[in-house]
Amino acid sequence: MIDRYDRHIDYLRVSVTDRCNLRCTYCMPKEGFSLIGHDDILRYEEILRIIRIAAGQGITKVRITGGEPFVRRGVVDFIASLRTVPEVTDVSLTTNGILLETYAEGLYEAGIRRINVSLDSLKADKYARITRGGDIEAVLRGIRKVRRMGFSPIKVNIVAIKGFNDDEILDFARLTLDAPYQVRFIELMPLGRAGVENDGQFLANDVVMERIAALGTLEPVSGSGDKGAGPARLYRLAGAQGQIGFISPVSRHFCKSCNRLRLTADGHLRTCLLSDDEVDLKGPLRAGAQDEQIGALIRGAIARKPRKHGISCDESLIKKCVKEMTAIGG
Ligand code: SAM
Ligand code: SF4
Repeated sequence: MIDRYDRHIDYLRVSVTDRCNLRCTYCMPKEGFSLIGHDDILRYEEILRIIRIAAGQGITKVRITGGEPFVRRGVVDFIASLRTVPEVTDVSLTTNGILLETYAEGLYEAGIRRINVSLDSLKADKYARITRGGDIEAVLRGIRKVRRMGFSPIKVNIVAIKGFNDDEILDFARLTLDAPYQVRFIELMPLGRAGVENDGQFLANDVVMERIAALGTLEPVSGSGDKGAGPARLYRLAGAQGQIGFISPVSRHFCKSCNRLRLTADGHLRTCLLSDDEVDLKGPLRAGAQDEQIGALIRGAIARKPRKHGISCDESLIKKCVKEMTAIGG
């Protein structure tokens, strides 16, 4: 479907849970937050129905995210069930990797080959600090396993945080030299109460790029940055097997080519990550709405998709959204 700003909306990110087995400081506020009640979380059959209807409106790509998708029981079977929606030709997953080793085979059998793993430090103690207790070894085992199994691409997502991991930028970049990983630096976004707590830690990707230049020239990967190619601008260090990507929602927003919708864990459709304007799909669904009515709600949401978000690096990182990232899905 084409929206009023001529964007081709074909990508749905689905948060299957707001629960997580980690508590990353940039994603969850210190004091925690109230979780969505079990009855308010969409059931798998409800999610599948919404995806089927959205596919009828032009969605062809689905990414499963959270919270942490693997903490929701049955998620691998749910992912396998997406095969029953023929229009959806691309299914991928974003995970913190803690349980990746355990579920890798199941994912493979479910047809998943594309995976994003979040990893904000390569040092065990720092990783435990940023995730408030995570075990980096579990994540590394998971990444190595999916690599051996032939998953591709394997994207490693790093939220660049001033004063925390800016001393590891080159180590992350070096990961691409001998392995086909796509290492992607993501700018810190001010979401929810965690956004307030992280004020002052924003690091622009231009700075990250400059630092990496110490390793050699970054050669642009052709096609990246084009309309439809996704938000990452991709580069390669000379002779490297992998790629380095920059996702810069704050300093260089990609709203003009944004092709996404988000289905939150509590059944709301969100057309912009950074706007709390949502359309409730769960209420009508549970009240017995027909597919056509749900389809009309999806079309209505797309019609209201904002032209762009209002965050820039000139302002200090202030609270921008009421919902925390875990409920929205990143
Ligand atoms: N738990 C999974 C994970 O961590 O990959 C999936 C959900 S997480 C919300 C999805 C992505 O959002 C992760 O790559 C995470 O690093 C990113 N993220 C979370 N909070 C963020 C923030 N405030 N700014 C930028 N990225 C953020
Ligand atoms: Fe959990 Fe992912 Fe948020 Fe970290 S970024 S707390 S792993 S949902």
